[in-house]
Amino acid sequence: MAKLSIKPRSAAIHGNLGNGHVGLKITQKGKKRFFEKLHPATLELLGNYPLEDAAAVDQVLDKARGAFKSWSNLPLKVRAKHLKNFRKQIVKDMEEVIDVICSECGKTEMDAIIEIFTVCEHMKYVEKRGPAYLSDEKRSTGLFVNKGAYVSFLPRGVVGVISPWNYPLVLSVGPVTQALMAGNTVVLKPSEVTPRTSLKLAEIAMRSGLPADVLHVITGDGSTGAALVESPKSDMICFTGSTATGRKIGEICGRLLKPVILELGGKAPMVVFDDANLKRAANGALWGGFSNSGQTCITVDKNPAFDGHFYEPTIVTNHDQNFKIMKEETFGPVINIIPFKTEAEAIDLANATAYGLNAYVWSRDMKRARRVARQVRSGNMNLNDVYSNYIISDLPFGGVKSSGLGKVYGIEGIRAFTDQQSVCVDRAGLSKELWWFPYSKGKQNLFRNVIRFLFG
Ligand code: NAD
Repeated sequence: MAKLSIKPRSAAIHGNLGNGHVGLKITQKGKKRFFEKLHPATLELLGNYPLEDAAAVDQVLDKARGAFKSWSNLPLKVRAKHLKNFRKQIVKDMEEVIDVICSECGKTEMDAIIEIFTVCEHMKYVEKRGPAYLSDEKRSTGLFVNKGAYVSFLPRGVVGVISPWNYPLVLSVGPVTQALMAGNTVVLKPSEVTPRTSLKLAEIAMRSGLPADVLHVITGDGSTGAALVESPKSDMICFTGSTATGRKIGEICGRLLKPVILELGGKAPMVVFDDANLKRAANGALWGGFSNSGQTCITVDKNPAFDGHFYEPTIVTNHDQNFKIMKEETFGPVINIIPFKTEAEAIDLANATAYGLNAYVWSRDMKRARRVARQVRSGNMNLNDVYSNYIISDLPFGGVKSSGLGKVYGIEGIRAFTDQQSVCVDRAGLSKELWWFPYSKGKQNLFRNVIRFLFG
């Protein structure tokens, strides 16, 4: 195992706090419980935040439900204007946002700035394209010239957004913006590791003039998130986090038949052929593997247990396929390098993981790069690049295999926050259709002949 000599300027490694209270210090004041939030590097106390229970979740869902009718009845362009004001307010308050992200996440300032840049680009896309993507869409009626057909994209109601800690802004604002654009109201449950970014976000939303109760932030741990999923008062869940939690949420939503988007873990393979621009590929691998301390779901990976709050950037060259590091998400600044001889071997290695979120292929031969890309089972792909797919808002983002279900962004993502209603309109106004009652031998024979003529 070769260790690089670069020291991370700031890197927070958190355990998976979601499934219990490991690492969470909880205090009780009367009936209410609070959890402590510490600065990940200095361990300075940043504050105590409510650990809300199912009753509190239901109260907030009621408020969001109360705001649903007026929000969903606003014209699309008016909702887009609210989101534009929200974005502009984030830009005005950028320094506050950078401070909160850096202090609660331990990120470098540059990583926080990149996150804000990404958020603004996504928000702008949603405001700009949302109204067109959510307008009724005409469909072909085929043979039935006397009919009209279109699809309406209707808000689902109250969307529960549950987010992780590694990108506390973009992974909260992204789903929130799309859900709001589609006419839903939102209850956001941020990670217990990063409650302050979402609370700041709610404050900024209020300052921007977003109507009251359209967006609520509720703090807590996995139990709060689980209450949001279980409550009959939430109409849809958009979850971003680990595959283990995603499976639990998927099971509950399956039982309740509640629509759900699951954006889960990843183990992104980077296939570099010998004809690639190796300088760019090496720089891409370093940035892709080590920026944000390698704590990116789409991080260049292929990865050890951490101890303490820091882990040095590490390159692993031992490639025994039986090692855990080869198959499981590391979620730290670790890159695993595996040599290969043939294209087929590279594809097999890239697919030798349960995940399928992001992947990367590097070659100057674009025919080969595209051919290999199509054979790697991955929801997202970059050719001669890293991460850039995520900043292209028109590209839907989401995983396959154990990396999740559904998409965010793109026309697919925006529409994923809607119920799609297929509408058929009769235009002729006849007293009845040919295939309505009464049935007769003559009608049956006529239809037999029509079938032979049209489809035989
Ligand atoms: P996590 O699953 O522990 O927690 C995520 C959120 O779920 C938190 O808000 C947590 O409180 C909540 N939660 C925990 N248990 C819950 C339950 N039973 N029911 C409902 N909610 C519950 O994940 P994490 O450690 O915060 O985040 C890191 C993981 O997220 C990594 O696996 C990473 O790859 C993944 N991730 C995926 C994407 C993506 O877009 N696909 C993006 C970023 C991170």
